[in-house]
Amino acid sequence: MRAITLAIILALTTFLSTAARAEELESTLTGPNVLIRYPKPARRWAELALRYFPDADRHAIDTLGITANRRVSIHLYTSTAALQKDTGWEVSNTLGVAMPSANLIAIDCTKAEIRGPNSLYVTLRHEMIHIAIGRLEARTGRRVPLWFNEGVATWSSGRILDGDPKALVTAVNTGSLIPLGQLVNEFPQSSIARELAYQQSESTIAFIVHEYGDGSVRRIVRLMQEGSDFPAALAAVAPGIDFESKWKEYVSRRYPMLSFLQNFLSLFTMATFLLIIAYCVYRLRRRRKLREWQQEERILYGDDDEYSEENEE
Ligand SMILES: [Zn+2]
Repeated sequence: MRAITLAIILALTTFLSTAARAEELESTLTGPNVLIRYPKPARRWAELALRYFPDADRHAIDTLGITANRRVSIHLYTSTAALQKDTGWEVSNTLGVAMPSANLIAIDCTKAEIRGPNSLYVTLRHEMIHIAIGRLEARTGRRVPLWFNEGVATWSSGRILDGDPKALVTAVNTGSLIPLGQLVNEFPQSSIARELAYQQSESTIAFIVHEYGDGSVRRIVRLMQEGSDFPAALAAVAPGIDFESKWKEYVSRRYPMLSFLQNFLSLFTMATFLLIIAYCVYRLRRRRKLREWQQEERILYGDDDEYSEENEE
């Protein structure tokens, strides 16, 4: 009896949650390799997603060399809370999330409304890279570090900035880069460190492509498909180097002028400040001297206002 009651409660809960979800994402659009579910008010975004999807799909294939052969679902939300409830993820600062195991991309239309249609375009390209890398991981049983996963997505798709655009430059010049070993499974929670983690990840891929050629990302993916784990695939593409040290050298080389300018500007600011202080001291001394002279003249010649005014400043 107890088991039956539990089963009824479970079935009812499942029904209610399915009903709530169906009510939220009541409409659908379909295209080649894509199914889009959305609430009616998000119709405009659904049509845009349908239009942008073939490009995002092609972009993942071109970037990674992985053929997309499964249908992707895109769920559009008009409420951040509903998206958070369905994904179980903290999404307050995120426009979209990818769940490769379900071939699912979830998009927060409230943020797309604020940032414009290009943000949806960039996000779909970005999330399709995650879907494709997720498929690679599932097929090979090998993990790809998050810095590489996010790095490829950001480097190839562009990104909607969510913090200090100079986070990486500042970290390079203050020796506060996050070790890549700390960006393997997750990114920092704080928004400042998180922005730096994204910029670092993007720059590692820029470094790989700069040093080892346009096809180096695809070569790493191919080696993993052929049985290598990620470190071996990276070592084969970038042989005989300590990857992290070489990448740091590359980033430091990349920003010397900006670093110089920052130092120059701080020196310039300091020099200007000192000059202003020196000028104020000079004016004070000059005023004091003039007053002394006026006192002497009054003693010698009596009051003479006209003479005093002409000589005041
Ligand atoms: Zn991402």
